[in-house]
Amino acid sequence: MTAETPPRETAPTPPPRGTLPVTAARRGAYLVTLVVLPFAALAAAVPVCWGRGLGARDAVLAAVMYAVSIFGITIGYHRLFTHRSFKCGRPLRAALAVAGGLALEGPVSLWAAEHRRHHKYADRPGDPHSPWRYGDGGAALLRGLLHAQVGWFFTAGRRSDRRHWAPDLLADPDVRRADACYPLTAAASFLLPAAAGGLWAGSWAGFWTALFWAGAVRYAVVHHVTWSVNSIAHTFGDRHFATRDRSSDVRWVAYLTFGEGWHNWHHAEPTCARHGVLPGQPDPSARLIGLFERFGWAHDVRWPDPGRVEAALLAPDDPRGG
Ligand SMILES: [Zn+2]
Ligand SMILES: [Zn+2]
Repeated sequence: MTAETPPRETAPTPPPRGTLPVTAARRGAYLVTLVVLPFAALAAAVPVCWGRGLGARDAVLAAVMYAVSIFGITIGYHRLFTHRSFKCGRPLRAALAVAGGLALEGPVSLWAAEHRRHHKYADRPGDPHSPWRYGDGGAALLRGLLHAQVGWFFTAGRRSDRRHWAPDLLADPDVRRADACYPLTAAASFLLPAAAGGLWAGSWAGFWTALFWAGAVRYAVVHHVTWSVNSIAHTFGDRHFATRDRSSDVRWVAYLTFGEGWHNWHHAEPTCARHGVLPGQPDPSARLIGLFERFGWAHDVRWPDPGRVEAALLAPDDPRGG
């Protein structure tokens, strides 16, 4: 630098648009409820299963709670409330909002706000949970995967502002009611399966084992399965469509998330009600939406247009695929 060159001032980086600061107390709560407790439940499941096994009653209750929670997230929180892939009457909307709440991933308006911001900035600065945040190298990518899986919950100093990203949902009285009821829904997510287990077994022992397996362990598994869409399905797997981000299709993630692991087409056309659009890509969530439509419970479903799917397909030798 010469004597004539004035020292360049480094302007502070402006906060990402449409975000609000998160208090330290809230970040601590996120750390406990979204990171530590699920890990603790999974860690405890191994010795408990080893020592006493997992009975059929608890396995059935956990499977039912898993299916309801995952469908609540995929069909309710994600495809209905966040992306408006279809319309439906109030009873089904309410049921899907409650089912999504049972997954313990936050109130629907906040979930939608974070997810809409993810689509807007996917894998670029501003994306709340891109695995590519720290770079492409081995250690940087590993750090990014952890960030996308759970790290962003407590490292992010800012949250998506619902007034910016989800004003439509805040204006919806049904959504406001679901948001207000979220603490009750969260409690029910543990107490419902526990009560069912207690009644089924006719004992307090049945209550406690169901609370553990169909409540705590199921909650941890649902979380990590859902978050693997943010991490794994933005890092590994095949890419069949040209998108600006690094979304991909990962078969095992799609099976566990009832269709959400077909994530590449979802980023190509986010409002589409079907994510698995290619042959051999089963999408149980889309099937259930189709069933709702057949029963007359859902309408204006945004099914994929075969012409648009065909036009968006990458050529087999395109370097952007894989
Ligand atoms: Zn994504
Ligand atoms: Zn989405």
